[in-house]
Amino acid sequence: MKLARDLLSRRARNQEQVAPFRLPPWRAAALVASIVFAAALFGHLTRPLGFLSTFWPANALLMGVMVRNPGWAGPRGWAGAAIGYLAADFAMGGSPGITFWLTAGNLTDAGVGYLLFQRVADADRRLERPQALLFLLLIAFGAGVSAAIVGSGCLMVYFGQAPLQAFEFYLTSEFSSNLVVLPMVLTAPRLADLAKQLGAHVAPSTWRFKTALPGIALLASILVATAIGGSSAIAVPVPAILWCALSYGVFPTALLTFGLGLWQCTVLLAKLTPGTGEYAAALTSHRFGVALFSLGPIMVAAINTARSRLLDELDLAANQDVLTRTLSRRAFLARGEAALADSYAANRPLALLMLDVDRFKLINDEHGHATGDEVLVILAEHLAAMLRRDDLFGRIGGEEFAVLLPDLTRREALALAERMRDGCTQLRIPVDGGASLEITVSIGLVWGLAEPSSSLQLLLKQADAALYQAKRAGRDRVVDTALRAA
Ligand code: GH3
Ligand code: MG
Ligand code: MG
Repeated sequence: MKLARDLLSRRARNQEQVAPFRLPPWRAAALVASIVFAAALFGHLTRPLGFLSTFWPANALLMGVMVRNPGWAGPRGWAGAAIGYLAADFAMGGSPGITFWLTAGNLTDAGVGYLLFQRVADADRRLERPQALLFLLLIAFGAGVSAAIVGSGCLMVYFGQAPLQAFEFYLTSEFSSNLVVLPMVLTAPRLADLAKQLGAHVAPSTWRFKTALPGIALLASILVATAIGGSSAIAVPVPAILWCALSYGVFPTALLTFGLGLWQCTVLLAKLTPGTGEYAAALTSHRFGVALFSLGPIMVAAINTARSRLLDELDLAANQDVLTRTLSRRAFLARGEAALADSYAANRPLALLMLDVDRFKLINDEHGHATGDEVLVILAEHLAAMLRRDDLFGRIGGEEFAVLLPDLTRREALALAERMRDGCTQLRIPVDGGASLEITVSIGLVWGLAEPSSSLQLLLKQADAALYQAKRAGRDRVVDTALRAA
């Protein structure tokens, strides 16, 4: 039950993540303008001593936002982005010439990146498989080159840089911001999903100290690197960030890599001397290192996540009944045996219930096999909703289900079986012509304390005998029996 529920909810979450966030165009444009304005201001405020920004996240953020919400990428959305850039620049006292020229460069990075992302598969846009990182690298570079072609002239004209130096400087600034910021934006969960996950999934027990260890190691390595400085400082956090990548998944890793990139671009850079001729060259080289550095951890996280997803799917295929999504017979027998052993060890009673649809053959004969299948699906959903998290529910034959209920008194087990039987009679299954079909089920129940000789096969045999009695006594009823030793 737990496995199937977890996997189904995870699959539903994945599907929701694909759906873009819908907004009317004007509101979307206003939101884009605000995001760009805030990110550009952030870039300006990290600017050292009147020089160009050390870290400029606005373009990559804009690109990622448009890729995630293609509906916003119309003329109004891009106009909103331009207004955001211009407003932030003028608010910081920028001169019109520089402001317009650099805004053109900024929009080129985001626009070209957006267009290139349209050419890759959905799974690559969401960084769901390792090869996505190669696309990310190429797109980050292509967008950076395009922006440098448009914008680097500004550095020559207004800042007196040599052509090659200006181009390199511009390109590495865009390239590194793209690589550090984009993974975070492309893999971020939607706000609605986040709220749901926080509300429903984060039980206190999941936040163990062990979970925090990779993060603590990362923080410690950053402190060590800051203290020792020098050329190796950028690489000191590598083991810790890889540990994080293996432990936390793609989005948290992208978030941590972003934080790391910020630190690498600000604290570490502050150790270089600003304002000198070597500064620009050092900055260029530094940014290049930061950009390529970030690919490693995200690649590791993407591979690890893809592998876990594959294992989950394999587990699901092996253990779930394809029609009703209950446990397959094989999985029910294996898990039931383990649950029986647990009950015996804890000296607690358990119940096994076998449920069979009455006159099911008639349903198939009168309404067709597809309707018969539909009955099984609706029935399974209905019964699953009545069970607890640790109950086992499996389809063990065509229209036969088994439920293993640990830790129930005889009275509770009987009451539940009665509720299940009665619940099935309340079901109305729509059939062709607007009519609806009603069904009844018969249930055999065995209850008791397990003994050393008890096996699941024995319990199933005894529940089956009780079920047979229920059929013979006229169907639509529960017959229970006490668990007997072999
Ligand atoms: P009873 O009340 O004695 O249980 O009568 P019944 O007709 O339900 O029992 P019987 O065992 O004679 O028939 C079971 C039918 O279930 C026969 C088979 O065609 C049908 N069946 C088995 N698996 C499936 C399935 O996956 N889908 C559908 N639609 N029918 C199935
Ligand atoms: Mg039947
Ligand atoms: Mg049957």
